[in-house]
Amino acid sequence: MSAPASECLFCKIARKEIPAAVVYEDDTLLAFKDIFPQAPVHLLIIPKVHCEGLADMTPEAAAAAGRILQVSARLAADHGIQDSGWRLLSNCGADAGQSVFHLHFHLLGGKTLGGKLC
Ligand code: C5P
Repeated sequence: MSAPASECLFCKIARKEIPAAVVYEDDTLLAFKDIFPQAPVHLLIIPKVHCEGLADMTPEAAAAAGRILQVSARLAADHGIQDSGWRLLSNCGADAGQSVFHLHFHLLGGKTLGGKLC
């Protein structure tokens, strides 16, 4: 469930208190490799500011989320999947599969992606 920013796993990664394979960083965002990759390319892109998820968007988190939408295409290109199809998704709530309650987007690609839900 939800953790305060001081205890939040992804806040700790953003503060470099827990190691992660960082592939991109700027003032507001961090992107790193998922430790349990579900595809050849599986990155997590997070705002540095704490926010539980899509249902808990502060203006600052919304601005960071907009930036994530921009940066995702660049990260896809950096990882060689810009032409082969890729997916950006965020699970919102435990019933949707969210396990870390700090807003994050999964960037997936490098294989044929199944499980199309809509
Ligand atoms: O959408 P969900 O909340 O389930 O995604 C959390 C993701 O964070 C998982 O894919 C998990 O593998 C990843 N994770 C990670 N590094 C950690 C803990 C979790 O990459 N230290």
